[in-house]
Amino acid sequence: MSAIREHIDHVPLIDHHCHGITLDELSGPEFELLITESGSHHHRSHFDSPFGLVVRSECAEVLGLPRHCSAEEYLARRAELGPREAARLLLAGTGIDTYIVDTGYLGTQICSPAELGALADRPAFAVARLEALAEAIAPDVTAEALPRALEAAVQHSTTTHVGFKSIIAYRHGLEFDPVRPTDREVVAAAEAWYARAERTSSWRLDDPVIMRYLLHCAADTGRPLQFHVGLGDADAVQHRCDPSHLTRFLAEIEPTGCRVLLLHCYPFIREAGILCHVFPHVWMDIGLTLNYLGPSAETAMREALEVAPFGKQLFASDAFGLPELFLGGARLWRRSLADVLEHWVARDLIGVADALRYVDWMANGNAAHVYGIPEVRG
Ligand SMILES: [Zn+2]
Repeated sequence: MSAIREHIDHVPLIDHHCHGITLDELSGPEFELLITESGSHHHRSHFDSPFGLVVRSECAEVLGLPRHCSAEEYLARRAELGPREAARLLLAGTGIDTYIVDTGYLGTQICSPAELGALADRPAFAVARLEALAEAIAPDVTAEALPRALEAAVQHSTTTHVGFKSIIAYRHGLEFDPVRPTDREVVAAAEAWYARAERTSSWRLDDPVIMRYLLHCAADTGRPLQFHVGLGDADAVQHRCDPSHLTRFLAEIEPTGCRVLLLHCYPFIREAGILCHVFPHVWMDIGLTLNYLGPSAETAMREALEVAPFGKQLFASDAFGLPELFLGGARLWRRSLADVLEHWVARDLIGVADALRYVDWMANGNAAHVYGIPEVRG
């Protein structure tokens, strides 16, 4: 094994974007819906997909099964171990040192950052989802009072959370007006939102004026701001998730000192890389992408390393619901990065010392810098 692969296999990771997992006993069909971004069952099992292969090889091995076992064997072994023991084994196999957890989605069905940290016996930090924050506050304040209430809530979150996340890509698209809306515009949008909530009994926020107001409030705190980009569930209209749409917004908030993180990025890895290249305050990851590309993960890693500087890449699993997604994310990141860097070294395009230094940055150093959390030492 090369020195680079050896180093990458053991370097501790900061997972800068992930979610909690469920500790419920899952039926086969329930498990299957957590190994896909699709909310539906298809003609064939989701075990017969690129990530299905990862589960039946990498995860199977960690749970004491032969590689390339069947879906039935996998589910039987998992049931035998129980969800807690399976999670403990899979999380221990990741080499993730620190978790930065998005608490915004289905927060009650999955474990909290503290529970995830306890299961993995590692530190865990929380990220606040802006749209969820607004949905929690709005029912208790008038439309007139909403601008100040949102600003205060975002500011207050900085005492308990290390950053913010926005899903405006899903709810509207990334092609929003980059300029901060006035209070008058926010109040008018809030009145329409409240009337809609009254009619539908749902506080789901999809108003672009209020969402972009939240983005500006978050940027003003100077804390890191994550954007969902690209690949996601069936709600995400892909051409509206192209991060190029953020270009003017990124220029607009640069003076605040806010650091922006582009999450997942598939299939817009090159567009994200360009933004990381030109803007000093933009970083990216290819979490989620690696898991769902499975055996093709290397093609995404190769693209991610094309134009973005090495100080701009972070590791993320984007695991949600299942510990398998943490294991797959970590293993595919390590393998694909080793594949690319070994190839560069073999062709004398990079020296080994540089390669090792960049690996440490991408594994944990860049994330520690962006989020202001402790550096990890191998
Ligand atoms: Zn996520």
